[in-house]
Amino acid sequence: MKPNGTKDHAALAEDFIKDEERVNWHDGSLWWIRQKRDKAAKNIPEWEELREAASQIKSNVISNLHEYLLQFEANLQKNGITVHWADSAQEHNEIVYSILKAKGFTEMVKSKSMLTEECQLNEYLAERGIDVINSDLGEYIQQIDNEPPSHIVLPCIHKRKEEIGELFHEHLGTEKGLSDPTLLTRVARKHLRNIFMTRRAALTGVNFAVAETGEYVVCTNEGNADMGAHLSEVQIASMGIEKIIPQKKHLGVFLRLLARSATGQPITIYSSHFKKPRKGQEMHMILVDAGRSRQLGRADFRDSLKCIKCGACMNTCPVYRKSGGLSYHNTISGPIGAILAPNLDMKRHADLPFASTLCGSCSNVCPVKINIHDQLYKWRQEIVKEGYAANTKALGMKAMSWTLSSPGSYTAAGKAGRWVLKNIPIAINNKLNPWYKGRDMPDGPKESFSEWYEKNKDDKS
Ligand code: SF4
Repeated sequence: MKPNGTKDHAALAEDFIKDEERVNWHDGSLWWIRQKRDKAAKNIPEWEELREAASQIKSNVISNLHEYLLQFEANLQKNGITVHWADSAQEHNEIVYSILKAKGFTEMVKSKSMLTEECQLNEYLAERGIDVINSDLGEYIQQIDNEPPSHIVLPCIHKRKEEIGELFHEHLGTEKGLSDPTLLTRVARKHLRNIFMTRRAALTGVNFAVAETGEYVVCTNEGNADMGAHLSEVQIASMGIEKIIPQKKHLGVFLRLLARSATGQPITIYSSHFKKPRKGQEMHMILVDAGRSRQLGRADFRDSLKCIKCGACMNTCPVYRKSGGLSYHNTISGPIGAILAPNLDMKRHADLPFASTLCGSCSNVCPVKINIHDQLYKWRQEIVKEGYAANTKALGMKAMSWTLSSPGSYTAAGKAGRWVLKNIPIAINNKLNPWYKGRDMPDGPKESFSEWYEKNKDDKS
């Protein structure tokens, strides 16, 4: 339980794992995508060079963010795009609202943007009488189910097709029991087409923003960003300030890495470039900080701003695959989310860096080479130092530290543990022990490694 009385990651994960079949299939689906990513990466001999190049380009960006942002702003203005700066989520939402209000619009279509999820834009606009439809299919499904996305690339990966069929029956009037993905997609497409045709304002996220030219690129597999933007009278783009890349030639590096890391595709189906408004259209760019500068100032964590939001770290993470994205109670879930969230509110998200085995698989797949598991480990130290770790965890860590720092206590604890496992296993294998939940405890070994080594080392034989 978190200090504000809401459930923490462990409690939410416990809810998720109650449905064993769902866990197995969630785990399997994400692992399948991880394997597709591996095949796609292995098909490119220069994969590691690409990762290194991407990492270095982003290092340059975060070391010179100020200059690149000013260059980008100047080029956007030259291209006829109105630029806005938002220091916080609240400011971002106010800007979007003021743009829509000035035109008298009460409806907007939105393509996938985790930033606007982070800012809770839909809720903010709804309170002011503005209706927003998310046009990415996965996000649309989450929206009609009143749930946030559980994954940054695959927002409803935790839902069965039967559950989606039920939602469509309720909201779109499809036949009860219809769960064929192709038929359901056709229905959604028809419904969304009408939205695209009638909404005069469109908002998109930004995948990459080119400082040199003042253009930005939006990657989707459904073409929904293009449909919304091309038919709109007012086009708004919301981007986190870290999305900048210096030059157009760098795009090739990132576009080759993004889709392969995300879903194992060679390229995202649509990588659309937006540069200037067409005749009669207004274009706005909102550059959002919302805690990013603070993260930039934290030397141990600033590299997390290199993230290109591919989701590969989630697909490979054993904790994410088994606990589901919603258990992270934060817009960006999984390993990278567990690094970004404590920057926003350390107390509220103190549980997240502990939701990891620190196995390093996330760092191994990250296309921009973020040292994710090292940063998670560093957050744990910060959180304990600041006194935000749960009391039970802090006490357990103290006891463990005392045990591991003295050979005598380590040997005694090992002996006691082996004796208990052998003679009264129920003392450990019971439901009150959180470590036992969902696990089979091993049989205790007869002897410790030191005892075995003493008996078997070479000079004795
Ligand atoms: S941290 Fe790396 S692997 Fe995870 S989403 Fe970001 S870029 Fe992808």
